[in-house]
Amino acid sequence: MAKQMTKCLVVGAGPVGALAALYAAKRGWDVEVYDLRGDLRDDSTTPLNFTKSINLALSERGINSMRQSGADGLLETVLSETIAMYGRMIHGEDSKGSLTEESQLYDVHGRYQRAVDRGALNKVLLDQLEGLPNVKLLFHHKLTGADFRKKKAWFERRTASEKSNERPQELEVSFDLMLGCDGAHSGVRYHMMKAVRMDYEQSYIDTLWCEFTIPPWSSETATGRTPSAKDRFRTSPNHLHIWPGSDKMFIGIPSTDRTFTCTLFAPSATFADLEKNPEQVDSFFRTNFPGAAELVGPDLRRQFEQNPHLPLINIKCSPHHYASSGVILGDAAHAMVPFYGQGMNAGLEDVRVLFEHFDSHPTTETGQQAALESYNRERVPDAHMINDLAMGNYWEMHAGVRSRWYLLRKRIEEF
Ligand code: FAD
Repeated sequence: MAKQMTKCLVVGAGPVGALAALYAAKRGWDVEVYDLRGDLRDDSTTPLNFTKSINLALSERGINSMRQSGADGLLETVLSETIAMYGRMIHGEDSKGSLTEESQLYDVHGRYQRAVDRGALNKVLLDQLEGLPNVKLLFHHKLTGADFRKKKAWFERRTASEKSNERPQELEVSFDLMLGCDGAHSGVRYHMMKAVRMDYEQSYIDTLWCEFTIPPWSSETATGRTPSAKDRFRTSPNHLHIWPGSDKMFIGIPSTDRTFTCTLFAPSATFADLEKNPEQVDSFFRTNFPGAAELVGPDLRRQFEQNPHLPLINIKCSPHHYASSGVILGDAAHAMVPFYGQGMNAGLEDVRVLFEHFDSHPTTETGQQAALESYNRERVPDAHMINDLAMGNYWEMHAGVRSRWYLLRKRIEEF
């Protein structure tokens, strides 16, 4: 029998889940957002996998998805905390050993990407949800089970710290629709697989990553001169910086606090060598990424030793939904290697596209199922394509940017 959509559970309060909850709330749905972690806006919550929040490239794909949310002031607030990156800055060394920098603009018309702090973006989205009467935010709630046929989900609620021996409280919740936005290791996807014949492909690339920070210049220089806010960046704030290498690279993305969030990408064997011989971290950087060690400063080795060394996963699956009752979005549906700067952007776009499909179908159970089916038909091929493009851009970023072919193509474009 036809039935009004009432209850929507969003699992995962990351950027994709928070935006999805906003879209659902705007449609008057009864929305509950569950996240296993604490509230990001509480300083004691460490972002998943990161030592601190990392900077991401936010592009039109993600911006437009926030624009279409209809949330007052959301985009203005997010964009006010971003930095324009007009192109890539390729760092190297000439034949005489002098440092070189080459700016490669992204767009002949001056269009650009923006650097955004993932945590800051996430907090703005959560703030938007906070005041809405039809949204409940439930932190420290871990999804432990879901039955998409019976439309029931189970959560573990931990009130005390993770170290506590207290037994977590169990909760059973009914729903009409579950939006699985719970990241690459999605529990929603795992439970959905029991109900649907989902093709699933997961691979790791033989590259690990580690985060570094380039600090700002201090407010007083040795000469006593006070540098301007812009001068406090140690290198150009309006570029995505790349130190390419044949099988490794180091990149830096600017932050509004004048630091750069940097990432070393290298084969696992290189990481293993450096873990065994950390005294070689400095010379490794000086040999492979000219000028980068000086920018990071004396803290380079400590950062390599203390920050986690993390893998990069690639996930493709199909379908992304079960009947009318569940759909996976963002990394849960298509985690990708970060070399195209589109993981979060594509996840935010999933939300916009999904709700276009909901809006063009009746709000009955049959209508919701038709909406999910048509969403799936449109989105799965796009998701697979962006995963492939991300993998392709790995070569482009770490070697292609300085290959003869790339330089030739650039000369032809300039001509
Ligand atoms: P997540 O951010 O993973 O959030 C998932 C949420 O679900 C988390 O809050 C988690 O606590 C919660 N959760 C998980 N399991 C459960 C459970 N069982 N119960 C309840 N809650 C649960 N993307 C870009 O667009 N541009 C970039 O420049 C970029 N750079 C990147 C650089 C690196 C080094 C990496 C690793 C990624 C990068 N990405 C980039 C990708 C981007 O970080 C992800 O695509 C994005 O964070 C995915 O968002 P999400 O909301 O889908 O998932």
